Amino acid sequence: MSIFAGRALKGETVALATKQISMVNIPHQNLRIPGPTPIPEPVLAALAQPMINHRGPEFAAILRRVTEHLRYFFQTRYDILTFPSAGTGAMEAAVVNLFSPGEQVAAITIGAFGERFAAIAEVFGLHVRRIAFPWGQAADPDVVMRELADVPDLKGVLMTHNETSTGVTNDVAALARAVRERYPDALIAVDAVSSLGCIDLPMDALDLDVVFTGSQKGWMVPPGLAIVGVGPRAWAANARAKLPRMYWDFAAARRSLEKGQTPYTPPVSLFYGLDVALQLMREEGREAIFARHARLGALTRERIRLMGLELFADRDHASNTVTAVRAPEGLDVKALLKALREEDGVVLAGGQQHLEGKIFRIGHLGFVHEPELTAALDALERRIGKMAGSTQQIAAS
Ligand code: PLP
Repeated sequence: MSIFAGRALKGETVALATKQISMVNIPHQNLRIPGPTPIPEPVLAALAQPMINHRGPEFAAILRRVTEHLRYFFQTRYDILTFPSAGTGAMEAAVVNLFSPGEQVAAITIGAFGERFAAIAEVFGLHVRRIAFPWGQAADPDVVMRELADVPDLKGVLMTHNETSTGVTNDVAALARAVRERYPDALIAVDAVSSLGCIDLPMDALDLDVVFTGSQKGWMVPPGLAIVGVGPRAWAANARAKLPRMYWDFAAARRSLEKGQTPYTPPVSLFYGLDVALQLMREEGREAIFARHARLGALTRERIRLMGLELFADRDHASNTVTAVRAPEGLDVKALLKALREEDGVVLAGGQQHLEGKIFRIGHLGFVHEPELTAALDALERRIGKMAGSTQQIAAS
């Protein structure tokens, strides 16, 4: 039994007898997965603030400030909506807010998350023309343009900015141009879950209609918030769109936002954290953050090359937020990740779907700088060297 003493109203002290409280003891880790990402101390402190009324003036002030900062990072004059959700919720929100059953869309897919976006559209009864590229490569705008040429009455195109499963960044500017050339009024919805705030994606300048991201990626905040930018073409489509929606309704979210609220109870603590994280990000500056990610992406790729390892991604489109590395012949990826985690305190990610065991991924997005990234890469180099040594010994004996 322990005693928790807290101050109640009017200053009297209340003592609450509690059973022994146990908390998961999180070891210090060099978390180098492509999300969730590490949280800086000021954000952690903000997350621990006391609760407030989510319909009160303090929350309204936070929501308004956060929305304004997000506009700067989305590079948009238009609306920013937040939903308590994983990133996948934003994918579903994009589909149900823009389209009606049976409408024709195209999905440009280059990996697991592009496939997921296409699958969601199918689940909701849209006709989906998949324009798929081999995993590890970026989408070729010329191919996209050719493939779109014979799609009748195309209403929208779904695409991924940064394909986290393969470590590839699409040239969204060129893809959007290719779409607009043939279908000037098609809706363009971009999954920027693992890139927004890290890699330049100017929503308005590229004439994108819906762009979304997740709090656990570049934003230095825990998982739980999906953030969506909605432009004027998307709002016009939203007024016509007949797919059923309730929780995800953009119009309801916008009406609440005008009052400084969200339609349903928001994760207030995450907003405390996001509020502080965005102030830190504004202090660093958008272009400086993009430059830091470019530098860290280049550093990672160079170290991988020097280790004699191969990138999974086409080098010209390799991502600045996540690097996918091809596992050399005979390397047990599971054992490598286990040894790194348990013995070096470095946490990397494995491959997804058919890439399990074939690649591993290093996240370098959000709150990350040279020292911890270099430390992770040093550990990886030592571990790979050791494992290659023991494989050779086994082969020789
Ligand atoms: N899209 C991309 C590009 C992602 O990287 C992720 C998650 O890693 C998602 C969508 C889905 O996000 P969540 O896992 O939060 O649902």
